[in-house]
Amino acid sequence: MAWYPAATRMELQPESDAQAAIRPTQFIVHSIAAPWTARRTYEFWRDSTNLESHFGLGYAGDLGQFIGTETRADANAGANRRPDGTGAVSIETASNLQHSDPWTDEQVEALIELGVWLHQRHGIPLRICRTHDDPGYGYHRLHAAWSTGGTACPGDARVRQFKEAVFPEIVRRATGAAEEPDEPEQPAPTTPALEDPVAIPISESNPRAAQLPADGSWLDIAMADAVLVGPGETYSVVAAVQIDGLQQHAKVQTRFYYRNQQTGDRSYFLPMTHEVVFEVDDDRETVEFNTIVVHHPLTHRVPDGHDLRVQVSAKNPGGVAPAYIRHRTLHGLRGI
Ligand SMILES: [Zn+2]
Repeated sequence: MAWYPAATRMELQPESDAQAAIRPTQFIVHSIAAPWTARRTYEFWRDSTNLESHFGLGYAGDLGQFIGTETRADANAGANRRPDGTGAVSIETASNLQHSDPWTDEQVEALIELGVWLHQRHGIPLRICRTHDDPGYGYHRLHAAWSTGGTACPGDARVRQFKEAVFPEIVRRATGAAEEPDEPEQPAPTTPALEDPVAIPISESNPRAAQLPADGSWLDIAMADAVLVGPGETYSVVAAVQIDGLQQHAKVQTRFYYRNQQTGDRSYFLPMTHEVVFEVDDDRETVEFNTIVVHHPLTHRVPDGHDLRVQVSAKNPGGVAPAYIRHRTLHGLRGI
């Protein structure tokens, strides 16, 4: 979950599945000291290092997202993920090699829009971070704890833009002060979208293939993100997983669970929601199979400090031949 709709999704694996969940409380902007497009930044993270930021922004305003905003990324040292499970969302922006140039108009606009979305989606408060762990908005050099050994990033010109143009405009738009010339009859919203009681539809899919452990061990699977629903959110969801390589009498299980964001421990109190012994109905050796797990026709709330994830297990007789996930989808509502 938590992929920004206005960004092009360029998912980094295995980081996107494997890294710990965060509850995003800060937004920290960077200059990457390279004149790269979002795509080029993605390729750099993918091919040259195991570091990454959540977002990358090119000079033309091209915006890529590499990691879900509720998963840890690496750009901010101590702010990536604190012991209490909170962390910072990071963006690397194209710059000259000395990161001395200002952001382009397109970059400024993209930063503002993303900043507004982060306030609406995650409730990041509309202030500049007063301390290194204070929720809010900032730029990399603002607090020493956000880097190892200090940094000038994102450069003087951009710090000035951040203070004078980007951050004030985030506040103005997020608080409903923006003009709405297309709909003059509509009063400006007076409450943040975060408090809006309207449920948000979930419709996510992931075509990535994955081999299931042949011995029937559970495998965590990601949809848009390994975190399906974050702490304290209400939800109702249905997951469907397409599996092939199953043999007669294979056992397939699917379940949701709550994961403790501090310890990584799994809560066992969610019911096992789908288990089936697979029966081939003709003489084919293996066939594709769709397993569907529902949680729940009623509404649930993810406990504080936890997130909702989903796992799959498939074991062929003998436990030697693996089965394969071919596709996964998640549908439902959050914020009910
Ligand atoms: Zn930086």
